[in-house]
Amino acid sequence: MTDPANAAAAGLADIQTRIARTAQIAGRKAEDVTLVAVSKTHPAERIAPLIAAGQRVFGENRVQEAAEKWPALREANAGIELHLVGQLQSNKAEDAVALFDCIHSVDRSSLVSALGKAMDKTGRQVPCFVQVNIGAEEQKGGCAIADLPSLLAEARAAAIPIIGLMCVPPLGIEPAPFFALLDKLATDNGLAGRSMGMSDDFETAIMLGATHVRVGSALFGARG
Ligand SMILES: *Cc1c(COP(=O)(O)O)cnc(C)c1O
Repeated sequence: MTDPANAAAAGLADIQTRIARTAQIAGRKAEDVTLVAVSKTHPAERIAPLIAAGQRVFGENRVQEAAEKWPALREANAGIELHLVGQLQSNKAEDAVALFDCIHSVDRSSLVSALGKAMDKTGRQVPCFVQVNIGAEEQKGGCAIADLPSLLAEARAAAIPIIGLMCVPPLGIEPAPFFALLDKLATDNGLAGRSMGMSDDFETAIMLGATHVRVGSALFGARG
């Protein structure tokens, strides 16, 4: 299994099996959980084998990096869905709307208004998640829980399709309570999507309702 294409296919199959098994335990359907393969920092040569193995949904955390890598990969492969999982600056909103099929990191008023304008201008309605600062961490992106209702109202007023909530729990603590809290906030706000769970904790997230798991290193290996 030193052939990179075989290794990628085996790694993908392993993650898909774990998703399916966990969904089954939780009484959910595997197809209700979308695997977002987070390919940030990895070059096209590392991504192509995963596409060849059937993966279609990918995540990047920087607009610039995605703009360099993905147009050629998309040209060569039908059905690619590209998700932005990282922080977005308002001045890159238009580029992001043009490039991505889903944005997971809407977290403040200024960005809501920039995205609303960008979607108006381009005529592209890109589904978005509102990112919640679920552990109330000072340095972390995401809107404060207390600000969530007003931010959702602003997004609605700007005609931005909000499909759910996203979080990155604090590092080094048991993530389950934070996933459970995000699930409750989504329910309280009538939202179906929950983008939560990464390489180390996606099974826990699925047990607690994740609809989108963002998996990088478990698929691609450690980032350089
Ligand atoms: C990098 C990243 C991931 C993937 O992390 P892994 O631990 O490599 O699976 C998921 N979500 C976000 C927001 C990220 O930036």
